[in-house]
Amino acid sequence: MLKLDFHPSGRHFLQIPGPSPVPDRILRAMSLPTIDHRGPEFGALGLELLAKVKVIFKTTQPVIIYPASGTGAWEAALINTMSTGDRVLMFETGHFATLWEKMALRLGLEPEFLGLPGYEGWRAGVQANMIEDRLRKDTGHTIKAVCVVHNETSTGVTSNIPAVRRAIDAAGHPALLLVDTISGLACADYQHDAWGVDVTISGSQKGLMLPPGISFNALSDNAIAASKTSNLPKSFWAWDEILEANKNGYWPYTPNTNLLYGLNEALDMLLEEGLEQVIARHQRWAVGVRTAVEAWGLEVQCQEPDVYSPVLTGVVMPEGVDADAVRRLIYERFDLSLGMGLGKSKGKMFRIGHLGDCNDLTLIAALGGCEAGLKLSGVNLKGSGVLAALEYFSQNRPHHVN
Ligand SMILES: *Cc1c(COP(=O)(O)O)cnc(C)c1O
Repeated sequence: MLKLDFHPSGRHFLQIPGPSPVPDRILRAMSLPTIDHRGPEFGALGLELLAKVKVIFKTTQPVIIYPASGTGAWEAALINTMSTGDRVLMFETGHFATLWEKMALRLGLEPEFLGLPGYEGWRAGVQANMIEDRLRKDTGHTIKAVCVVHNETSTGVTSNIPAVRRAIDAAGHPALLLVDTISGLACADYQHDAWGVDVTISGSQKGLMLPPGISFNALSDNAIAASKTSNLPKSFWAWDEILEANKNGYWPYTPNTNLLYGLNEALDMLLEEGLEQVIARHQRWAVGVRTAVEAWGLEVQCQEPDVYSPVLTGVVMPEGVDADAVRRLIYERFDLSLGMGLGKSKGKMFRIGHLGDCNDLTLIAALGGCEAGLKLSGVNLKGSGVLAALEYFSQNRPHHVN
């Protein structure tokens, strides 16, 4: 057991960008007895869930639900649509894009990893013009898919997906568009149908406010057509049997019953509030947190204001300060968890999650822990980020979207 300076009382501040805090209402829903997954009650729940989840993805097409973490749904998206040796165009936005590229390689695909030079790509979004240029050169259409991360959770950058769709169309290229919005869904605006996405991948433990353990593939007709000829080995992940069983609200195997109760509750919460409202709430928190970072005189990891993430903010440490040491101190002194720098950004920055079940004051508390921890670590702050954010939240009431 890690020893804290004090006996922790009250609630732990879980401000990492996923898993996000699970609301009591969802925890209570999940505590109901597990039922027969082949019984009539379950089929009704399954049908209700499969219909409601489409609203969140903004799609009228099928959404597959897997009892797996997001990584499983990444794999499912690739192996259901691609064949051995297929070329896939991916874009390096950060650690998660990098992991997905490694996975493609391990699955026997031929990923081509575009990106800005060095560390630049980890502070910017997907460059749609680079994708368009590459696709125009692929006159033989050997590239079968373009794979991008919508909200890069390692950096706090939310890429422009419609621009990627336009790039593919402008090049007149038939490649499928596969998008990871594991951390973007139900925080940032996301539109599977309107943006012309072929497979959207998402997960439970970020914007959906659930514990880890379920993940999603939202499909298109082109994706389903590709799955009929794709030759990569698949059984558990295969869409065909799942789609067949889903027609009656069931799964070919035992689904994650209690997590599905939680999902049902989460969908109700999001739909009662209204998706537009949910998105506006996250945007406002993100501005508040960036206001604090600016008041400290520190840099935000994302250098392109158009694509600041509404889900999380990466805070860059001044030269010579180890972000992991600062995070550890904050955890031990204030019982607050922050996201670590991953991959190329390890030790250089930490990440503040502002997603899901937060409110202005939980964020003020999180910023308070950061501010105190930065000072205790000897970081010279220009001013108080806590006061700046409090001022921002006080002066800017939540915007009600009708
Ligand atoms: C969390 C996350 C993943 C990985 O999901 P797991 O549930 O940890 O398997 C992949 N991509 C992004 C963008 C994520 O935020």
